[in-house]
Amino acid sequence: MIADVLIIGGGPAGLESAACISEFGHKAVLIERESQLGGHLLKWDRLFPDSIPSSQFCERLTGNTGNSKVITNSNILSIKRDNGRFISKLTTGESVESKTLLMTTGFALFAAEKKQEYGYNLYNRVITNSDLEDIFKKGTVTGTEKPAKIGFVHCVGSRDEKACNRNCSKVCCVTAVKQAIELKEMFPESEIFCFYMDLRMFGRGYEDLYLEAQTKYGIRFIRGRVSEVSEDINGNLIIKAEDTLISKPVRITLNLLVLMTGIIPDQDNSNLIQQLGVKLADDGFVYSPDPLYGSGKTNIDGLFVAGSVTGPKTLPEVINEARSTSLEIHNYLISKD
Ligand code: SF4
Repeated sequence: MIADVLIIGGGPAGLESAACISEFGHKAVLIERESQLGGHLLKWDRLFPDSIPSSQFCERLTGNTGNSKVITNSNILSIKRDNGRFISKLTTGESVESKTLLMTTGFALFAAEKKQEYGYNLYNRVITNSDLEDIFKKGTVTGTEKPAKIGFVHCVGSRDEKACNRNCSKVCCVTAVKQAIELKEMFPESEIFCFYMDLRMFGRGYEDLYLEAQTKYGIRFIRGRVSEVSEDINGNLIIKAEDTLISKPVRITLNLLVLMTGIIPDQDNSNLIQQLGVKLADDGFVYSPDPLYGSGKTNIDGLFVAGSVTGPKTLPEVINEARSTSLEIHNYLISKD
């Protein structure tokens, strides 16, 4: 198969890039390792700040890949450079010869069980932000029908030297607020507490959502890290923390605890990154040689990136970056003709 661009990854960045590259009149092949397109969007129920159904946005992206050839259940087996072209062997047995490569392989979520003090995989009522989206999709919480007290822990695996990730994951504060409101709508009688270090409500509408969470839904925000979670004989969770605004210890019994796991580099890409010799930044995400002006370029000529493969981003940022990188690829292809 011959292509101008081989796009690796069928999440939002890859799908939007396929649409743009196709509009520019170039031939793109998009490969996705899973059986369905959409990436992390598939796991999410609704999107912040306007609660748009994730499936609706996903359908919009998947229905608009232009003339691009899309191959699912496929990954890169091996890749080499020959005469300036990338020769990629796929796990499906096919081979793609392309003038450029575009990596849109996204991110992974921090494995919550690594923070043993929070008891994920130990206690049934400790779940992650991703698990909660699944609950929203199904419309029920199993094991605890109507949780009277619910807690959220921010920055799980983010801003944490011990977890080898000192960076902020950018989107989990507003996601916690969104999810807390959704839980309150599901269980109006419940009390909800968010334990945070700082609240990073930088985007349009985020601050309004945070205010609404407090004034309309009565969600309580407690500044302080949770130090310990244990379980009583009834399966309830006992949380120990410190309210750092009033310098007092806090001990609360909860029926459900949600861990806001952070965004980290996807280690499944390490083989591809090694084969290509892609330079990584100190945080493990793909290095951008010109983060101010040309974020789609990498240290390899002809290899481009878009989306969260270079670090945590909001969905609008991912979409905009897919478009700008597609333009860079278009200019690159024209310059080589
Ligand atoms: S966005 Fe909020 S919860 Fe996420 S890492 Fe940053 S400060 Fe922590």
